[in-house]
Amino acid sequence: MAVLRICRLPQDRVLRQKARKVRVIDASIARLIDNMIETMQQAGGVGLAAPQVGVSLRVIVLQMPGEEPFALVNPQIVQRTGEQDVTEGCLSVPGYWGQLKRPAGVVVKALDRSGKPTRIKADGLLAEALEHEIDHLNGTLYIDHLESPEKLHEAGPPTPGRQAI
Ligand code: ZN
Repeated sequence: MAVLRICRLPQDRVLRQKARKVRVIDASIARLIDNMIETMQQAGGVGLAAPQVGVSLRVIVLQMPGEEPFALVNPQIVQRTGEQDVTEGCLSVPGYWGQLKRPAGVVVKALDRSGKPTRIKADGLLAEALEHEIDHLNGTLYIDHLESPEKLHEAGPPTPGRQAI
């Protein structure tokens, strides 16, 4: 496994591209997933999308605090419920945190790393992270959802231990 370079705004244009669907989960996708998990863990994040490591494919990895990491291929949000106020940071926009609204709950359809269809019902941080990562696959960043520039702060995490996505 290898730690990959994390792309950043504004120089890495891949962050603004719509990522392509994965057609076959082959050895190169398995390697990409392993490297993304290692990169996410090394950076201390709770999620990472393939465009953040310069690969324009619809692959994301997530790891909630205290839980095992997992990967989703071609994820799609099929349901959104409610609303939550969140303070979010992104590994591709280091040093900033922003306040925005996200759905309180989401249902996501995807393939797991073995290609098996899977469905995840999530709320709280996992719902927030799923939305954030799937946004990355569409070239969208959390800063696009801010109501105003005053909602973006150059600062450390809002609470100790809060991780970027
Ligand atoms: Zn991000």
